Amino acid sequence: MSKVLLSGNEALARGAYEAGIQVATGYPGTPSSEILEAIAREYGSDIYAEWSTNEKVAMDAAAGAAYSGRRTLVTTKQVGMNVLADSLFYAAYTGSEAGLVIVTADDPGMFSSQNEQDNRWYAKLAKVPLLEPADSQEAKDAVLQAIDISEQYDTPVLIRTTMRVSHSKSIVTLGERSPMPDSVPPFVRNQRKYVCTAMWAKERHPLVEQRLVDLADYAETLASNRVEMRDSSLGMITSGVTYTYVREVFPTASVLKLGMTYPLPRNLIRSFVERVEQAVVVEELDPFLEGEIRAMGLDVKGKAFYPPYDELIPDRLASLSTKAGLIREEAIADPIALDLDLPPRTPVLCAGCPHRSSYYWLAKMGIAVAGDIGCYNLGCLPPFNAQHTMGCMGASIGVLHGMAIAELPEKAVATIGDSTLFHSGLPALANMVHNQGRGVVIVMDNGTTAMTGHQDHPGTDWALHGKGALRIPIEPLVRAMGVEVVEVVDAFDMAAVKDGLDVCLAFDGPSVLITEGLCVQVSKPDLAAYVVDAERCIACGTCFKLGCPAIVKASEIDEKTGKRKAQIDLTLCVGCDMCRQVCPTSAIARPGEETTS
Ligand code: SF4
Ligand code: SF4
Repeated sequence: MSKVLLSGNEALARGAYEAGIQVATGYPGTPSSEILEAIAREYGSDIYAEWSTNEKVAMDAAAGAAYSGRRTLVTTKQVGMNVLADSLFYAAYTGSEAGLVIVTADDPGMFSSQNEQDNRWYAKLAKVPLLEPADSQEAKDAVLQAIDISEQYDTPVLIRTTMRVSHSKSIVTLGERSPMPDSVPPFVRNQRKYVCTAMWAKERHPLVEQRLVDLADYAETLASNRVEMRDSSLGMITSGVTYTYVREVFPTASVLKLGMTYPLPRNLIRSFVERVEQAVVVEELDPFLEGEIRAMGLDVKGKAFYPPYDELIPDRLASLSTKAGLIREEAIADPIALDLDLPPRTPVLCAGCPHRSSYYWLAKMGIAVAGDIGCYNLGCLPPFNAQHTMGCMGASIGVLHGMAIAELPEKAVATIGDSTLFHSGLPALANMVHNQGRGVVIVMDNGTTAMTGHQDHPGTDWALHGKGALRIPIEPLVRAMGVEVVEVVDAFDMAAVKDGLDVCLAFDGPSVLITEGLCVQVSKPDLAAYVVDAERCIACGTCFKLGCPAIVKASEIDEKTGKRKAQIDLTLCVGCDMCRQVCPTSAIARPGEETTS
């Protein structure tokens, strides 16, 4: 058996391969995106992988494949689980013909999410088993185990990782791929099982409840639920990556490590708690385990010491545990201090980003903006400060509609990307049109799902599975939905963007402005960088309002104006031309070109 170094996400992909998964679906989102990408890259000839339009669609497609006898995996980031959940609940009732596994990659610490949610609750709510791997080897093993449980107990299985498991690398022992049939038998026509109409779903519910009882018995036998008995004065109950932190911070304590955290092995937990003097539950975010264990009548503590927010990385766990009196201060090794004097870096739109023109004008015009999830969320930061709400995927258009319903005494705009429009913006746009709402929807079409790593979506002519894809153009789509005023402009043409915005704002109804311009990280333009003619520059500051990281202030103050003139960092500028268009004195041009406009 060979051993390799894999991230948790790569290990999950490997687990999918070894478990005989044949279909994998998902919607990109940090920290889960690399799972499907690794499947497509490494095992694409054995596993069909696709980025679905959104997480619910991914789950429905997965259910269909698993109903049809294909072992299937779905991936999502933590908030995507909220979108997926509707379909998880019916699949929990129906079960499937072949194994069905859902991976949710949670984000304690909110590194790339709008909230900090603990998706373990979904297992309890949907009444499906939950596995929590602690490292890459366990992540790989969890997929095989999940397929086994799914097929043995006729249930979808949830695997929950967290960002540290998803992105950290550790050694994984590779195995062989389970053999799977090349073709599937005819569809199983079992309406009582697969049609969740009330009369039949009612019959399924007691089976689901019995399944949980059976799974709790199974959990008692599982090797990944294990006791590591050491000093019995302190016993830590933990799961997932927190287990590795506990081992580091409490090297002598006894540990009950739970690999399956729903339903729980109640006898194992009870006997562990009885064997230690003090039992402490260490878990990130919510008191999921603690609540279950306390409900068993056992005296454990957890959230009394560890708050239900942020990660419990070793330094924080050690400091909180010291405050709680669980470890003596002198027992903690001094952390290695890194004395690095690094300049602060604020996030900005890339040099050459096509979203810049829209935010430049929105800021200049002082328009109220309902924003959405994507790179364009950076429009909320200086110098634009031009995004005033942002909630979740696809929320912008609904929020804009609500602003109009509230009879806001000013024009308002929603900003949404192409991928997010397809994900969940279209139903909101249909609602706005149908209810004769008002407002401008700016679709910032950069031709990819940029923020999560440039994945495809229905508006691109390529797809993850590499089998070719049909592009759905946005303009005819929104026209077909009944939007009367639709303007399509080049996102790099400042005047065109302003004109398009003016036309849309003048219309007393729903309008759509599509700003087309490829993401600079995809197009990678090979254009000469621009320069500023210092003689012509009057230090008016207009170009700075574009927020381009390539435009910097000169180190010296100009004697005439008392201000710093503009300069362009040749290493960053990609020659997108926007600054040249806004400069009032034609001071900006490509080297050697005439600077007059
Ligand atoms: S041309 Fe101007 S706006 Fe565009 S990348 Fe270069 S400096 Fe930035
Ligand atoms: S817009 Fe033109 S004149 Fe104004 S600061 Fe920039 S380069 Fe100078």
